[in-house]
Amino acid sequence: MKAVRGTRDLLPPETELWNRIETTARQVFARYNFGEIRTPIFEDTALFARSVGEETDIVEKEMYTWEDGERFEKSLLISRWSLANRERFGTIEDNSPSGAVPIDLECEDLDGNFELVLFGAKPSKRSVDVLASAVSDKRALLTQLQSDKDVTGRHVFASPVPGVPEETTPEGVLLEAFHGNFFKSSQSLTLRPENTAGVVRAYIEHGLGESGQLQKLYYIGPQFRRERPQKGRYRQFWQIGAEVIGPPSSGSESPLRDAEVLEMLATLLEDLGIAGWTLELNSVGSAADRAKYNDVLRAALVDVAPKMCGDCQRRAVTNPLRVLDCKVPEDQPIIEGLPKIGDSLGDDSKQHFAQVTAALDTAGVPYTLNQRLVRGLDYYTRTTFEFTHGGLGAQNALLGGGRYDGLSEAIGGPKAPGIGFAMGLDRLVLTLQAQEATQAAAPAAKADAYIAPIGESLNAAALVLARELRRAGLRIELGDGSFRLKKSFEAADKTARRIVILGEDEHQSGILTVKDFISGKQTKVPRAELAANLARPAGE
Ligand code: ATP
Ligand code: MG
Repeated sequence: MKAVRGTRDLLPPETELWNRIETTARQVFARYNFGEIRTPIFEDTALFARSVGEETDIVEKEMYTWEDGERFEKSLLISRWSLANRERFGTIEDNSPSGAVPIDLECEDLDGNFELVLFGAKPSKRSVDVLASAVSDKRALLTQLQSDKDVTGRHVFASPVPGVPEETTPEGVLLEAFHGNFFKSSQSLTLRPENTAGVVRAYIEHGLGESGQLQKLYYIGPQFRRERPQKGRYRQFWQIGAEVIGPPSSGSESPLRDAEVLEMLATLLEDLGIAGWTLELNSVGSAADRAKYNDVLRAALVDVAPKMCGDCQRRAVTNPLRVLDCKVPEDQPIIEGLPKIGDSLGDDSKQHFAQVTAALDTAGVPYTLNQRLVRGLDYYTRTTFEFTHGGLGAQNALLGGGRYDGLSEAIGGPKAPGIGFAMGLDRLVLTLQAQEATQAAAPAAKADAYIAPIGESLNAAALVLARELRRAGLRIELGDGSFRLKKSFEAADKTARRIVILGEDEHQSGILTVKDFISGKQTKVPRAELAANLARPAGE
């Protein structure tokens, strides 16, 4: 078996880099007073359709969606069947869940005969077998009691159609198709392709806006998109993201929020040691501005769209803004000639954007204006941005984000303007791996010491020593007393910077033999000094 296409295992030592990135991100988020949110990895499909947008690549073709299987409601079938059969019996005893016999009901009719009943969503061989054996047990019991009463087994299952005749199996069990709907209706679910929708859903569900305060939330977790796998593009990938959202009275619409998020990102990338990024910035205006621009674009596309790729021909009609995302080389000159969104922005949007860029100028955060940057999700309004990195090749976007002032209302919530971003963790790792300097700074992969018990009788003592040293904060690899000394040395050399030998002498005297692999020196160290000794850098 192999990991599914587009997914992969992350193994040590690479995971050290992942952890370092996550730790740095958490530290930066803490300095900006963000708190962590964790939402489920799957949600109602409608959430993504309504927020990300029906006419987007993500919703059209990249989501992992399934109908969550209809749930059989056994208790409902049991109660309806009992009601329908109540006249036939003197007693109907509920045998589940504590009954010794794994059957659901034990019924005794007015003549004292027994019927053992087992319920199911559909007929099952296993139920028939269970019933047949329960029947023969009960018969044996009745024979012992010298009773002449009989026992039958009945298997009742849900049937969508009425009037199906009863059958008897070769085991002598009655099969009864009981008419009715005993299934809870199903729900369409989707693995989250992004996390903003889930965060805003949670914001609404928990009334986070009711405090009147700005909510500053960050998340770190896997996302899922059915894309063609390639370098920097996977079907399960990780994002680190954050959202600033709140009622308008909390200042959530202020251009200062946009500038602060962008400044935080510049700081985060700097703290991560990522050099040479570019911030591309644009404003897609208010929902009204965007609608106006869409009309302008649609009109401009009437003449040129027939010369463009198939996707663009379709988008030209359904969602003209998406044409700007097109990557087909032949379409680029045509797109360059299309009207620019800046010319469709209303005064409010223009002013808001001017304040964002002014704050960035003052804070010294460099950016490039890019009027084509409209982002692949429908919920963006006003400020949109992307941080790209040259080292990434075709998949050059490290992160993307923007404002989403109408998103909360679109999914049934109160007015709650917000701004956020999502950063591709996989791409951060690729970038950092490509930067040699950072690799050298990565923490050493070797343990401080390898403990080699000499003989299995010292294994337990070695465990105690390892526990002592680990509690002192040291990274310890524990060997095994069944190894020959040569094998212990080989294993130690591969995994640790030093070996600590625990033979019978060392155990008795409390003076341990330590060999440093870097200096090659072998020394005797009293147990009380061992932790301090091992904490020094190797080679000294
Ligand atoms: P792209 O243009 O690269 O497809 P996108 O616009 O679809 O990106 P967003 O939805 O904005 O991406 O996601 C934010 C970030 O998440 C991206 O900038 C990227 O770093 C990362 N990302 C998106 N899709 C993937 C993927 N399939 N594999 C790895 N990282 C991804
Ligand atoms: Mg994409």
